[in-house]
Amino acid sequence: MTLPQSEAPAELVAKYDRSGPRYTSYPTAPVWTDAFGQAEWVAALRQADERADQPIAVYVHLPFCQRRCLFCACNVVITKREDVVEEYLARLFLEIDRTAAEMPKRRRLSGLHWGGGTPTHLTSDQITRLFRKIEQHWTILPDAELSIEVHPPVTSREQLETLRGLGFNRISFGVQDMDGEVQELIGRDQTVDQTEGTLAVCRELGFSSVNFDLVYGLPGQTAATWDFTLDNVLRLRPDRLAIYSYAHVPWLHSHQKRMPMERMPEPELKLELLRTAARRLCGEGGYAEIGFDHFAVKEDELARAVDEKRLYRNFMGYTVRPASDYVGFGVTAISEVGSAFAQTHGKLNRWNEAVDDGEFAVARGHQLSLDDRVRKLIIERVMCNQWLGFDEVEALAGRPFQELFAGQWQALAEMEADGLVERGPRHLGITEMGRLFLRNVCMLFDAYLPEEEVEGRFSRTV
Ligand code: SF4
Repeated sequence: MTLPQSEAPAELVAKYDRSGPRYTSYPTAPVWTDAFGQAEWVAALRQADERADQPIAVYVHLPFCQRRCLFCACNVVITKREDVVEEYLARLFLEIDRTAAEMPKRRRLSGLHWGGGTPTHLTSDQITRLFRKIEQHWTILPDAELSIEVHPPVTSREQLETLRGLGFNRISFGVQDMDGEVQELIGRDQTVDQTEGTLAVCRELGFSSVNFDLVYGLPGQTAATWDFTLDNVLRLRPDRLAIYSYAHVPWLHSHQKRMPMERMPEPELKLELLRTAARRLCGEGGYAEIGFDHFAVKEDELARAVDEKRLYRNFMGYTVRPASDYVGFGVTAISEVGSAFAQTHGKLNRWNEAVDDGEFAVARGHQLSLDDRVRKLIIERVMCNQWLGFDEVEALAGRPFQELFAGQWQALAEMEADGLVERGPRHLGITEMGRLFLRNVCMLFDAYLPEEEVEGRFSRTV
């Protein structure tokens, strides 16, 4: 059994616990600026088009929900009006057409992810029309990962049949917590029966993988309620689990002010909830811990990929099928195309205006330099595979690893003495203990991390 990340000696936690990025991208989003706009985005698409033989992956953001869950930090539009959804789809179709026109040689698709919001806020007819629009431009490869996020209380059997019929093979449920009172305190009404019923239909229809998202640090959570949730999770046995820490940032999401703060778990209890989850999932559940905050059953291809050091990560999550370019559509969508990151406007009206004006709705981005790409490669390998071979880095950088990163090599010596890493002649390995401190290792290679700005801008590394 691997050591769960949450089990680490207190002295190491005290030494290494600091604020730091989660590295879903490098350079991280705060580095991106509005100096990257229309012209840069079109240039990135055209550059990506030169890789004609390689498939792309597509993300579509569908922001609609019927009601607002109080803890939620997603970009969400609350509406029950169908015309609002129809107008959004019409603009999405324009955005897809315009983007495809800029990369006419890239016609194959190896990954598709619909996130939100609640993608199953769309009717079966709307789901089908959006899917056909994507198929109009891209040929979906036979082994493509087609995944979608669903909210069980608003997801019908008919919608699931439609999704499976279109070829969706992976599905992710927002569960958060299964205790009735916790659900009520966070403004949700999802019962265990609804989660279980939706899971049963997904299994019957042949979705190859089901993921549950859980959140710890929510109001009303106690050791007992969390055990109830984990008992149910272990009984239902989803193929994958993501366990996130609740981030209370009411200055960014004003609805979080309505969270009952007097019912929040104390920090010690919050940490214990994570420890309990990791212990039970990796112990009696037989799950493997994947990268960061994620778990998968041992037979899952993600768990096998960790052992074989061929796990990758992108904005859609972990994958074993990396694409060279990821194109995002819809409000607040992130893309990684032609060595550049770009993000669309987060406000629906700004995104609407840009699309109506015949523009790409790019709000900000970043063109990666060679130095960025070398550091990105290192950080990705450390975060995903906990192993870094120098051959790959040197092939990209054109210089010896230890010459390029002499300072980091020295800093890694101290981490080696603490039992966190192993410095080989041609590789850097992360030890079982070091898995808790992956972000600390990555931060050594982050060229944009001004010391004084780290505290307060990012979450804790441990
Ligand atoms: S259903 Fe999901 S996306 Fe919508 S408000 Fe609730 S948590 Fe957020």
